Amino acid sequence: MNELNNLKPINEWFKKLDSRPIIISGPCSAESEEQVLNTARQLKEIDQVKIFRAGIWKPRTRPNTFEGRGDDALHWLNQVKLETGLLTTVEVASPKHVEMCLRHNVDILWIGARTTSNPFSIQELASALQGMNVPVMIKNPLNPDINLWIGALERINKAGISKLAAIHRGFYPFEQTSLRNIPKWEIPIELKSRFHNLPMICDPSHIAGDRRYIQQISQKALDLNMDGLMIESHYNPEEALSDMEQQLIPSELNTILNSLICRLSIK
Ligand code: PEP
Ligand code: MN
Repeated sequence: MNELNNLKPINEWFKKLDSRPIIISGPCSAESEEQVLNTARQLKEIDQVKIFRAGIWKPRTRPNTFEGRGDDALHWLNQVKLETGLLTTVEVASPKHVEMCLRHNVDILWIGARTTSNPFSIQELASALQGMNVPVMIKNPLNPDINLWIGALERINKAGISKLAAIHRGFYPFEQTSLRNIPKWEIPIELKSRFHNLPMICDPSHIAGDRRYIQQISQKALDLNMDGLMIESHYNPEEALSDMEQQLIPSELNTILNSLICRLSIK
């Protein structure tokens, strides 16, 4: 079994990531300059939020749905960095995405669940990342196959990426369930126990699929000692072009974060 080498703790990725848990938030998709900047301005008011997420090229299940604004949106994210000081993170699924993100100073890349499921795609991303000193977060694959997840982490690590994290976003349920994806907490727990230095972020938004469950899933993740949370937010979720039901307005996010922090401080 291959080990993950030279992993850097998440608080060494960037100076501003000094508090735990690391909170990443922002819209499922970057939809317009106004939506991106309005959401980011509201998130900036929440102290715990350090990283702004937005999907730019969206891996939609069916065609003829909103597939993201593409390259234009990278300028909006740069504007977010300049105006709010938040770090930025974007999903990459191809070498072209990696090149575009690095050219536009995206701080952190993430690899989505559908891409992690495909070792050919991961290997192409690894080649594009060779020698780049950029942090990469890798979501679990859609199916509960821990080795596929580990394999993706190993491939990207072998390309020299030492700022590496895993994101737990749950697994495709096959049957109708109240949650969009089943958490199968035992899988991230096992990954954490095998790779002590690997930061583990939970994505309660894609596990829940419904904003009403985000608080309890987030609390569970923190109870399991996960290192951070990636939570989708939108200044006007009712008009969101993707994942409308799970996005929180920033003030709701703030309420949830405060409830979590209270409980944590009792421990
Ligand atoms: C997302 O983060 O918006 C996304 C598409 O996630 P996942 O890859 O977990 O489905
Ligand atoms: Mn989403």
